[in-house]
Amino acid sequence: MDRFRIDVIAATPQPQQVIWVAMHQDYSEVFVADGRDHQPNETKAGELVIKHLLAGNRGHYGPLEYPQITFNVGYFPHSLVQQLRSHRIGVSFDVQSFRYTGQRIVDVATGDRNVEEVFYLRPVGKYNNRQGKKYKYTENQRQADVQWCIKACKRYQERIKEGLAEEQARGLIPFDARQHFVLSCNMRSLMHLLDLRWKRDAQLEAQKFCDLLFRHFEEWSPAIARWYQDNRAKKAHLSP
Ligand SMILES: Cc1cc2nc3c(=O)[nH]c(=O)nc-3n(C[C@H](O)[C@H](O)[C@H](O)COP(=O)(O)OP(=O)(O)OC[C@H]3O[C@@H](n4cnc5c(N)ncnc54)[C@H](O)[C@@H]3O)c2cc1C
Repeated sequence: MDRFRIDVIAATPQPQQVIWVAMHQDYSEVFVADGRDHQPNETKAGELVIKHLLAGNRGHYGPLEYPQITFNVGYFPHSLVQQLRSHRIGVSFDVQSFRYTGQRIVDVATGDRNVEEVFYLRPVGKYNNRQGKKYKYTENQRQADVQWCIKACKRYQERIKEGLAEEQARGLIPFDARQHFVLSCNMRSLMHLLDLRWKRDAQLEAQKFCDLLFRHFEEWSPAIARWYQDNRAKKAHLSP
């Protein structure tokens, strides 16, 4: 899958138990932290959360806001980062800005770094435009576009040498420079991101991002991820 990469930096342990505890406080007479030794294990908690909160689309998603997960996302094109940052609620970002860094662009110009590590171009293949018209992105076109990226890096290098700040010189490079970022969200906002960006007509790179994100969701919270896959994934439902 290209060079795209998502690693988990931190995640709430036993997320399904955390959700269960929050849900349980709603109808429990006792202070729920006192009974933690008797609470359901992680697997059972997942089953109960699905039964009481999610099954039948009850819309009681608040308890899913407690478990938090933080990812390091790498090598995705700028266009995807722009799209993701429109999701404001429950999601935090820290993104490479190109204001302070630009060495890897200069490295492309000097031949010390592979241009494909710094810029994203789609693979050669058949695509549809937004009006449904099919087209081919050919090897020749792609090669020419690679050269275009290298040329832009050379211009960037020249301007940096002349004393321009990185924040101005960044305007000279092609749009889909690869960016690394840190993204943190709770389980509810994670599902919201998947709802909006994993749709079959979503931008190809957004779908790839969601494929990787979902694998971590499955590892972190197997029961709820399975419920999500069976009930919401790629169905273009509105946000939970
Ligand atoms: C396929 C697609 C294409 C898009 N194209 C463009 C584009 O071309 N240009 C562009 O600028 N944007 C575009 N967007 C972004 C879109 O307009 C929204 O800004 C983005 O999806 C964030 O909305 P959200 O529902 O994720 O809100 P979030 O900020 O993640 O909020 C989560 C939820 O909280 C509620 N909420 C948040 N803020 C408010 C509020 N102010 N008032 C009421 N309820 C609120 C809503 O229920 C919302 O769904 C696109 C989004 C998608 C999915």
